[in-house]
Amino acid sequence: MWNSPKVGILGGGQLGRMLVESANRLNIQANILDADNSPAKQISAHDGHVTGSFKEPDAVRKLAETCDVITAEIEHVDTYALEEVASKVRVEPSWQAIRTIQNKFNQKEHLRKYGIPMAEHRELVNNTPEELAQIGEQLGYPMMLKSKTMAYDGRGNFHVNSKEDIPEALEALKDRPLYSEKWAYFKMELAVMVIKTKDDVLSYPTVETVQEDSICKLVYAPARNVPDAINQQAQALARKAVSVFEGKGAFGVEMFLLEDNSLMLCELASRIHNSGHWTIEGCALSQFDSHIRAILDLPIPPKSLELLQPSIMLNIIGGATPDSHLKATQAALSIPNASIHLYSKGAAKPGRKMGHVTVTAATMHEAETMIQPLVDVVDTMRA
Ligand code: ATP
Ligand code: MG
Ligand code: MG
Repeated sequence: MWNSPKVGILGGGQLGRMLVESANRLNIQANILDADNSPAKQISAHDGHVTGSFKEPDAVRKLAETCDVITAEIEHVDTYALEEVASKVRVEPSWQAIRTIQNKFNQKEHLRKYGIPMAEHRELVNNTPEELAQIGEQLGYPMMLKSKTMAYDGRGNFHVNSKEDIPEALEALKDRPLYSEKWAYFKMELAVMVIKTKDDVLSYPTVETVQEDSICKLVYAPARNVPDAINQQAQALARKAVSVFEGKGAFGVEMFLLEDNSLMLCELASRIHNSGHWTIEGCALSQFDSHIRAILDLPIPPKSLELLQPSIMLNIIGGATPDSHLKATQAALSIPNASIHLYSKGAAKPGRKMGHVTVTAATMHEAETMIQPLVDVVDTMRA
């Protein structure tokens, strides 16, 4: 039957957990590769899971034996193991796409070939202060020093405000492969979730993302006060960027809207993405529903990706105390139209994503008014 293929998922964090929620509703079995009791495994009782890491070739091989198609909730996986098992099971998106995208420098070199606009950047070869100083001369200050690999939630970024910051920046990111990026003076950050199917490249509406300390804090769907022309350009840019990679599934595209109203790509992820969590309540099909359907070649009516109601998503990030996320979400219990998602990660650690809350309303103004008390609570809990 259409729902009989088993889906293997590399990673059982919150993104895997929300994928399992979607798979469960279609009676599709999702086999998770991650530690026992990871958030995704907790809501999925069957004996098809694999204990281990998505970075261990043996564990990936073992998962491949249990399923028909493999996907990933994270890009930092062993793509050599995926390449090996691709002769036996379908891997979506392709291991080539994940391998290129997981290295942000290689990702950008690839996108550059297709004319995707991005901040100017330079690769570091020796990671020496002299080399970075020379790059600083070329790109100007401030600039953003970035790790090519294993970057997430801004862990891997360092603001280099002047030449004097160079020793500290290299110390903070030492032993990592680096590149440096010209500062993007953006007035807003936009994001588009793209769904690549066997014969289409679909997209969700353009949203506005607000980062605090390089971590996504709020997502507004649709983006506020963005003229339709820019919205359309963002849609086209996101779809074009994703179309140059092989494979099916959800891709998250982050962009900068600059002062002159031009757009630049910030980065792209080969997976479901934090900027698309609002789609659970905001659209008929969520990004997680669409991802499962895309990798299994099930129909995705494009109309189901349209916005039903303005939505705001607020991340619940670990604060100073282990129960900060529970205190914050307690406040959300009393907010009308607030959907609470806790990820069941145990005790909060500062900076860790512990959950999110989405509020939908008839107008964006109403949604803003309803969520504001919760934003205030979250702001007081910051570590
Ligand atoms: P993610 O959690 O989205 O994977 P990441 O660690 O891969 O994050 P980026 O998305 O590259 O990091 O950067 C995080 C944030 O830092 C951006 O959303 C933006 O706010 C800021 N930023 C990144 N690059 C630049 C730049 N060149 N100029 C100005 N700000 C930047
Ligand atoms: Mg990233
Ligand atoms: Mg990012």
